[in-house]
Amino acid sequence: MTDRYAVIGNPIAHSKSPQIHAAFARETGQDLTYEAILAPANGFEQAVRAFIAAGGKGMNVTVPFKLDAYRLAATRSARAEAAKAVNTLVFSARGIHGDNTDGLGLVADLGRNLGLGLAGKRILLLGAGGAARGVILPLLEQQPASLTLANRTVEKARALQLEFAPSAGACPVDACGFDELAGRQFDLAINATAASLADEAPALPQGIYAPGSLAYDMVYGKGLTPFLRAARAQGAAHLADGFGMLVEQAAESFFLWRGVRPATAPVLAGLRAG
Ligand code: NDP
Repeated sequence: MTDRYAVIGNPIAHSKSPQIHAAFARETGQDLTYEAILAPANGFEQAVRAFIAAGGKGMNVTVPFKLDAYRLAATRSARAEAAKAVNTLVFSARGIHGDNTDGLGLVADLGRNLGLGLAGKRILLLGAGGAARGVILPLLEQQPASLTLANRTVEKARALQLEFAPSAGACPVDACGFDELAGRQFDLAINATAASLADEAPALPQGIYAPGSLAYDMVYGKGLTPFLRAARAQGAAHLADGFGMLVEQAAESFFLWRGVRPATAPVLAGLRAG
């Protein structure tokens, strides 16, 4: 019987994950189906259990359910524990296992696809939700010069700072609101807020982009996101959206489910062109 997988979220119609996993399955010769499931805001667990009952083998989890997925998983990987968010569920006779491949996806996209080494870089991470939390440790592992966490609700950024500072080694981690970024410069600014989904950009002060800097939006879509448009106007040298991260985190999920690692470059190029 063909194995079933799915991505679950709300909204979900925009998701490119079904196309990505279909491309991975073709490339690796794996026999599987991958669908998109819209769950009501309060119906996540019910939808997951219905999918398992129907023979589902695994799921990707997206906004707004990553915390629900974390709670639902009976066992969790170390990186899911650190992120306190789950984007990949694996179903087996042993129960529901949760993992988080977002951070690895981001670091792989920055390094492999965009050629940006993070060692010694001044990194600004915008947002303090599940997406931000999931990438902090993988970013720190690359030994940047500093990591600044900025969020609209400052307390949430401060809470993340307190939580992750002990794992930061020599890398200073600080937290602030957007206004407090005035007068500082960064080599990489990552937008992990959901602002672009509402067609907005975080209100950042002028002058934060260092020469040669990259502005990276975890959100992706047709054309530039509001964050990337603002970054271009404010002098960021390079712009990238989160499509590469999506493909890279998907590849890691695919590996968890199937034990096979697909090549991402052809899939990324094909989907960007199409
Ligand atoms: P959460 O709902 O957990 O967090 C939302 C964050 O965005 C909070 O920090 C919130 O700030 C901030 N925010 C929301 N609206 C605005 C606004 N108008 N201005 C400034 N800040 C705002 O979402 P996630 O962390 O799960 O996801 C964030 C984004 O990352 C989503 O758009 C998601 O699609 C994307 N993503 C992309 C991935 C990829 O593979 N490319 C992977 C994972 C996520 P506050 O605390 O003040 O409310």
